[in-house]
Amino acid sequence: MNREIPYKIYLEENEMPRQWYNVRADMKNKPAPILNPATLKPITVEELSPIFCTELAKQELDETTPYFDIPQEILDFYRMYRPAPLVRAYCLEKKLGTPAHIYYKFEGNNTSGSHKLNSAIAQAYYAKQQGLKGVTTETGAGQWGTALSMACSYFDLDCQVYMVKVSYEQKPFRREVMRTYGANVTPSPSMNTNIGRKINAEFPGTTGSLGCAISEAVEAATTQEGYRYVLGSVLSQVLVHQTVIGLETKTALDKYGIKADTIIGCAGGGSNLGGLISPFAGEMLRGEANYDIIAVEPASCPSLTRGRYAYDFCDTGKICPLAKMYTLGSGFIPSANHAGGLRYHGMSSIVSQLYDDGIISARSVEQTEVFKAAQYFARVEGILPAPESSHAIKVAIDEALKCKETGEAKNIVFGLTGTGYFDMYAYQKYNDGEMSDYIPTDAEIEKSLANLPRI
Ligand SMILES: *Cc1c(COP(=O)(O)O)cnc(C)c1O
Repeated sequence: MNREIPYKIYLEENEMPRQWYNVRADMKNKPAPILNPATLKPITVEELSPIFCTELAKQELDETTPYFDIPQEILDFYRMYRPAPLVRAYCLEKKLGTPAHIYYKFEGNNTSGSHKLNSAIAQAYYAKQQGLKGVTTETGAGQWGTALSMACSYFDLDCQVYMVKVSYEQKPFRREVMRTYGANVTPSPSMNTNIGRKINAEFPGTTGSLGCAISEAVEAATTQEGYRYVLGSVLSQVLVHQTVIGLETKTALDKYGIKADTIIGCAGGGSNLGGLISPFAGEMLRGEANYDIIAVEPASCPSLTRGRYAYDFCDTGKICPLAKMYTLGSGFIPSANHAGGLRYHGMSSIVSQLYDDGIISARSVEQTEVFKAAQYFARVEGILPAPESSHAIKVAIDEALKCKETGEAKNIVFGLTGTGYFDMYAYQKYNDGEMSDYIPTDAEIEKSLANLPRI
């Protein structure tokens, strides 16, 4: 074993990023503007301000400023759990017998268990700065709600979480972590909002969807004085906050003179992937370097690999701005047996544009393969990975095995976005041999896409 590179690469205090990077500044083809759903014209900061904090609305629409200073209070909070280690997966390499060098950036090292805290703390900070009483949000698997409740309790903000009903019921522990941090957790669709009541009437017994929970949270924010809506993925502001992942990764690699060949991230709404790859994609866009960047998504919710690049609603309730993105249609709900997370119908507009321009590629994987990789990884590297993160593990292992065939000693870097302690229901299904794969048919996807707004 080559022990020159430590098992974990940490950064010194003075090597930590002090700014977030906005890759849009380096994109020649900017993501298409987000549209006001009422006028279908590009939305302005003023129009976004009833929904989002003003500073975050500005970040959302800023496609020219390359770096945003990270406020000191956020840097102080980051210090409690960052830098996240960049781990050299020596044990995995050995087990696979690959000449490849595998590295993973581990974001599960905080109580919320995922990278989502990186943006939650930023969004809570700007809400506090604006003098708000609280924020509303949705959560699917629960990682975002947990991260946000931690961030809100730090800044003494009220936190109202609409949790997709199926997760609310299947993940009582996740729910109780949020309540421990002081959040109000409501199963969605609920009877608190107009959209919730409407969906409950139309689809009695529905177990909910992320899009529906988003609509409820937006309605709750816009109908209560002193509240704004915050979102844990998809938006450009979130992707910008998540660039701490990529910036730390790049500094850690540079420190040891390592040039990444392949960079892999799982893609739900695209925030961890976008955050991890931004500094590297920036180099590609400026013509300074080349990387093989791979987004990995579930075969049951394949927005990049089988969706359409079109304007769509970000939410089922059609209240949020419209974004041009790779989408399966805002009404798309993955089949009931889907257990691996990453169930959002669309994709970050930045990631979508980078994909459309060929800067990144995408692959879809079936969930039984994902859990097989998760179990393998847990046994070899020790960390119990989140199902979402395991999409990236699966493709990292595939790439490392390709290197075994070709004899290439590639440097493979992947994002390990979180831990899977609250996903044991899904692991149980896998361990019991009861997990199956469902891949939507072309007809099902076409049916959903037929409802795209005509713009
Ligand atoms: C939310 C989440 C994801 C997917 O979200 P992105 O915005 O695509 O990053 C991936 N992994 C974990 C652990 C998550 O909690």
